[in-house]
Amino acid sequence: MSGRIVRISGPAVDASGLEGARMYDLVRVGRLGLMGEIIRLRGDVATVQVYEETAGLGLGEPVEGTGRPFMAELGPGLLSSLYDGVQRPLEGIRASAGDFLARGVNVPALSRERRWPFEPAVAPGTPVAPGWLLGTVRETAAVRHRVLVPPGISGTIAEVRPGPLTVDEPAVMLEDGRVLTLLQRWPVRLPRPVRRKLDPEVPFITGQRILDTMFPAAAGGTAVIPGGFGTGKTVVQQTLAKFAAADIIVYVGCGERGNEMTEVLTDFPKLIDPASGRPLMDRTILVANTSNMPVAAREASIYTGITLAEYYRDMGYRVALMADSVSRWAEALREISSRLEEMPGEEGYPTYLATRLGGFFERAGRAAVLAESERVGSVSLVAAISPPGGDFSEPVTQAAMRVAGCFWGLDPSLAHRRHFPAINWKMSYSLYTESLRAHFEREAGAGWAAQRREAMALLQKEEELQEVVQLVGADAIPDADRLVLETAKLLREGFLAQNAYHEVDGFCPPAKQHLLLGALLHFHREVQRALKDGVPLETLLGLKVREELTRARELPNETFAEAAPALRASVDAALAEARAR
Ligand code: ADP
Ligand code: MG
Repeated sequence: MSGRIVRISGPAVDASGLEGARMYDLVRVGRLGLMGEIIRLRGDVATVQVYEETAGLGLGEPVEGTGRPFMAELGPGLLSSLYDGVQRPLEGIRASAGDFLARGVNVPALSRERRWPFEPAVAPGTPVAPGWLLGTVRETAAVRHRVLVPPGISGTIAEVRPGPLTVDEPAVMLEDGRVLTLLQRWPVRLPRPVRRKLDPEVPFITGQRILDTMFPAAAGGTAVIPGGFGTGKTVVQQTLAKFAAADIIVYVGCGERGNEMTEVLTDFPKLIDPASGRPLMDRTILVANTSNMPVAAREASIYTGITLAEYYRDMGYRVALMADSVSRWAEALREISSRLEEMPGEEGYPTYLATRLGGFFERAGRAAVLAESERVGSVSLVAAISPPGGDFSEPVTQAAMRVAGCFWGLDPSLAHRRHFPAINWKMSYSLYTESLRAHFEREAGAGWAAQRREAMALLQKEEELQEVVQLVGADAIPDADRLVLETAKLLREGFLAQNAYHEVDGFCPPAKQHLLLGALLHFHREVQRALKDGVPLETLLGLKVREELTRARELPNETFAEAAPALRASVDAALAEARAR
């Protein structure tokens, strides 16, 4: 079913004569055999988005259909890999072609040479169905790869071959003659099936106080981090990759400025997993598109990324997918749409931007996966957004807001003051706060929700007071309010701010968050009480214990349960002394 190129417009190529072509079929374009995907069918003409640079293609060159959509390769060897948006191994391409991205090069995503010690978990005669465990492979020091029956396949095991196997050698034979290998394929634009989705009642613990305490994410939930240039999107994502409660990280770097992606590519492999002390790459897959890579590959990259994430979810793992940033993906979508001469919507984005983004976010979730027994896995999605000029009213931020469970808005004025993470507590929100409350109350400490409310109210009050102070000056407001301004500052500096690079402060377990906030609020109540009892404002503003409280976040996590009562005792002692003066 060979066709011919009849038109070339940047990454979009029209071909006629491609018989039997279907939407999203993978095709090979031109004499170089460039990879592309059919994105429109009109009569005899198929429009192909080409994943590679189209310069030099000529009219009349052949276009070959493959009769199948673009599929990701799934199997052992994914972890610690570095791929482009259509899952070509960047290292492999470099080695085979001596170039970062030679065109038309056909390098498989998973090595065909490497042998894996397959340890079967089934014996001949066992009936199996989709998602059932066939055996395991130690993929990296950090992760045991569960080899599962692919979706759509059922039967009875006839033969099992343990031992060192390449990904395409037979591992399991079924009685009907079908052969299962360690490798399976999946069309990236199609969500992988699960048994049933589960409610977001388990938190996606990040160890970041402003997130877990104030705007918690759910395992299998979605969060967006919009922020202008330099406000800390990438640092937040890398911090989450390091510390968040996830077994597997899929990091999709979606064509931020070229040098920035290079940074990710050089930084990430150096990150150490704080949990194991080993390279974070042991449980990470990087999907990278620099801005000089073709726009179509960038458009595909988020689907490639989430398919890899779903694959590990199906094994029962907690997967975190970081997309940095989906704005670049949306721009790729816009560019392709304009090549197709579609009717543009707001700011030139196609009218289906929100639907597409929604479809992608839909693929996050916590689920009972297809399995021989109850097995639960999750894909949590954290998407950065880079609105031009930091303006959150633009279409991509707005579309993402409508579909995300958490909105973690970055604030340039906080970043400017070097308050990090620069997450604005006035505009951010989480739709999971209620559904996660029971979990936090049980696991982190009773009174979790009440404390959160009290702290938020204080911060709210601070904002109102600041407006008044700007008009009339600090001396004109009541003493009690002066104290509120002081304790709100303490909350900001001692609780909301967190140093991602500090040995202890980088990760704060929820129980410590609870105790720390408890101590700060205790201070707040005690100074207010002392003021009522006639202790002068100046004395209360000058209490040295405030510094001890501000630094308490750096006290060791393991022993914080013992340190917290001592902290409260210091507060009580300081106030007793102030009253006695
Ligand atoms: P963006 O991705 O939004 O453009 P980055 O994540 O690259 O911004 O952050 C820009 C700079 O801000 C970083 O290089 C770092 O110096 C500082 N920064 C951001 N977040 C933090 C943080 N949590 N702790 C300390 N410094 C931070
Ligand atoms: Mg960035």
